[in-house]
Amino acid sequence: MRNPPYWKIIARFLKRTAKKKRKHDMNDSQKPRFDTLCVHAGVEPEPVTGAIMTPIFQTSTYVQQGPGEHKGYDYSRGGNPTRTALEASLAALEGASHAISFASGLAAVQAVVQTLEPGAHVIVCDDVYGGTGRLFRRLYAKYGLSFEFVDMRDPANVARALRKETRLVWVETPTNPLLHIVDIAAVCDIARKAGALSVVDNTFASPIFQSPLSLGADVVMHSSTKYLGGHSDLIGGVLMTSNANLAEQLRFVQFAGGAVNAPHECFLLLRSVKTLALRMRKHHENALKVAEALVGMKRVKEVLFPGLATHPQHDVARRQMSGYAGMVSMRLDGSFDDVKTFFSRLRVFALAESLGGVESLVNHPETMTHASVPPDHRVKIGITHDLIRFSVGIEDSDDLVEDIRRAVNF
Ligand SMILES: *Cc1c(COP(=O)(O)O)cnc(C)c1O
Repeated sequence: MRNPPYWKIIARFLKRTAKKKRKHDMNDSQKPRFDTLCVHAGVEPEPVTGAIMTPIFQTSTYVQQGPGEHKGYDYSRGGNPTRTALEASLAALEGASHAISFASGLAAVQAVVQTLEPGAHVIVCDDVYGGTGRLFRRLYAKYGLSFEFVDMRDPANVARALRKETRLVWVETPTNPLLHIVDIAAVCDIARKAGALSVVDNTFASPIFQSPLSLGADVVMHSSTKYLGGHSDLIGGVLMTSNANLAEQLRFVQFAGGAVNAPHECFLLLRSVKTLALRMRKHHENALKVAEALVGMKRVKEVLFPGLATHPQHDVARRQMSGYAGMVSMRLDGSFDDVKTFFSRLRVFALAESLGGVESLVNHPETMTHASVPPDHRVKIGITHDLIRFSVGIEDSDDLVEDIRRAVNF
């Protein structure tokens, strides 16, 4: 039997839905729990064919019934149904009313900066993601914005850095690559009282383990390239907020500049989010095992992991996180050549930038991800030749521990 022509299906569907209310609205009465949200939020069976997966609406434009009369979409820079489904899903994960999905994490960061007026002062945590620091220092500092990098492990440093022009406080926690913890509630409270917006880069914790909006943040940002995507096969970013006015400004920045992610990327992200809760639990378990095994290993000088009771801010981490995700850093007792030897002896961990994928990666921040941080600042905060960062994947933890133990034994 041949399928009916597409327009016939649509005609039939339109007649039916005119009468029937949708059954699959997750927002109705029962509030689903987290694992259920990951699988279902934002997505419904495709109304025309019943396809359970959201289709990839690979289209730039939409046919209009009359001038300015359309079904809610007129051009894919402004909106695309696959992106809409993704945004609904991501908003639900962070408990936000709005999510705006971008072409990259840094495009999302940039959108926040582009809502500021010249003259604004921004306080940034000093151990911020290298690319975020580069965007602030090298690109936006010349547009009349000033950025001040402070150690946010002590919230009092944020209070001290406030000026009357402070409009934004940029928090990242756990930080990259030193895995410092910033007390989100304390810093966001300082920002709010000063009339500044607070943004939390929640990439490392993922929405599964940390909910900054519930701790007082105005905006949550993710590089969806990392845990949200989870399979090292796409670049993306997202902003979530429950502030409607701010969401409108951010959407305008995106619409005006066009840093949207493509329908296929949105589809891949929608698919990835379904397993986010499962993956994060495994990342967390494996990282804890790797961190515990690293303590006391030959040549391992220091282990940086917020899940260890010896981490200086373990108490804050326990209070604001329900798991510690998969990032572990350590310091190797030896020269840069020793570090290179260690890398060359690893078999399961692959030497690469990025993080948050199912496969385990190892990275040398000084020469790789954080090479763009000014050298004096790098040394000041402790990104030195001996620092090694692991993104612990979802392989068997025994294989991961053995890989490191063997590689470090030379
Ligand atoms: C990767 C990353 C970013 C930047 O995201 P892109 O998707 O690479 O543009 C920002 N913050 C953190 C914490 C990251 O790990």
